Amino acid sequence: MRYNFTAEQIADPQLGPATQAVRSCVHCGFCTATCPTYVVLGDERDSPRGRIVLMKDMLEKGGAPTKEQVFHIDRCLSCLNCKTACPSSVNYQRLVDQARAHIQDHYERPLADRLLRFAIAKVMTRPALVRIGLLLAKIGAPIALLLPGRLGAMARIGLSARPQGPEPTQFPKPAQVKQRIAIMPGCVQGALAPQIDGAVGRVLARRGIELVALEGAGCCGALPHHMGREQDSRAWAKRAIEAYEQGQYDGVLITATGCSAQLKDYAHQFAGDPVWEARAAKFAAAARDFAELCTPRTVTPPQALRVAYHPACSLQNSLKLSGAGEAMLDAAGFLVTPFSESHLCCGSAGTYSILQPELSSQLRDRKLGNIAAAEPDVLVSGNIGCLQHLATGKGLNQPILHIAELLDWAEGGPKPANLELPRKSV
Ligand code: SF4
Ligand code: SF4
Repeated sequence: MRYNFTAEQIADPQLGPATQAVRSCVHCGFCTATCPTYVVLGDERDSPRGRIVLMKDMLEKGGAPTKEQVFHIDRCLSCLNCKTACPSSVNYQRLVDQARAHIQDHYERPLADRLLRFAIAKVMTRPALVRIGLLLAKIGAPIALLLPGRLGAMARIGLSARPQGPEPTQFPKPAQVKQRIAIMPGCVQGALAPQIDGAVGRVLARRGIELVALEGAGCCGALPHHMGREQDSRAWAKRAIEAYEQGQYDGVLITATGCSAQLKDYAHQFAGDPVWEARAAKFAAAARDFAELCTPRTVTPPQALRVAYHPACSLQNSLKLSGAGEAMLDAAGFLVTPFSESHLCCGSAGTYSILQPELSSQLRDRKLGNIAAAEPDVLVSGNIGCLQHLATGKGLNQPILHIAELLDWAEGGPKPANLELPRKSV
């Protein structure tokens, strides 16, 4: 693609990789069919190719972006299906991340939008504040459910949560410890579904992995990063890196795939930083996803079930772990039930389900329709964002669980509270 980036822009450690993405794009359009927003809207400006042109113009010129540029870039899910599909290896992630940061620094959004984004960055990254928000939403449920737009979307996500028990701070110790892995507490998951980390601890202990709570760490920084709030995001990353450096571990885990992808990208977040780049790279190299640690284990579950597995975009396109979830479920004695368009984003996409509620609901309902048509007994995924977002839809009556909860039950752990068993097994 023709470009007018300056030598200085190309050499910049943050902007440079984005200019490289623009320069590599040959405008072939192979990516368009894989882009959820293009599939739904059919507008070239909501396709990867169209957005690349908008982002190129915005970044080349610098300064305040136009309303049109912001509108279409905001509608991108950052699902990175386009990156996976691209035959020219265009690193769309570098471009869209840089574009979001540029918009954050150079565009004045309407006041309500700014306040909402501020609240997401400051409240949703802190489990204690999320718990207060959940309580308020529950008290005001009849009104909260009637709220339109973004506030309604936020309330529905909170009200669909069924937290069970407190967040675990200690994890079972295997008889023979093969690996000692630090576990990040994360943010919303601790408040919405603390039972997930408990299940992860039991499943990994059976594989000789001891989990140790990483004191001092908090959110991974993905939520502010999705909104281009790089300062907030880097502050969380620094906290996690410093906490990890205090101990001796064989790796660091966070139990949501979207967050794992964020941890593994820390090195780029600090590219060009003389103090933090090397430390971030070391941390990123130690980051593990649950799907990497949980080796498939052959067992017979209490009841064989038909399981639909929703592979989060972060698992498929960032972590490149397609097939890992299916292999774990298959070994655990479940019948993995395929469904149409499993590669398309469910619309959760970090903060997208709150900031773009209409498009996000369309993608969710399309996903739930495809899953329901496959008639599974249960739906599982490895990302809290997808789980909560899908739970707000009405197209599926089956329980929705984190994959670790189902594996834990299959391997002798407790039955997840919301797992309703069908009368007939497969
Ligand atoms: S497939 Fe790759 S090269 Fe082709 S238009 Fe999309 S991003 Fe550009
Ligand atoms: S990241 Fe996803 S939504 Fe955004 S342009 Fe690429 S395929 Fe489309």
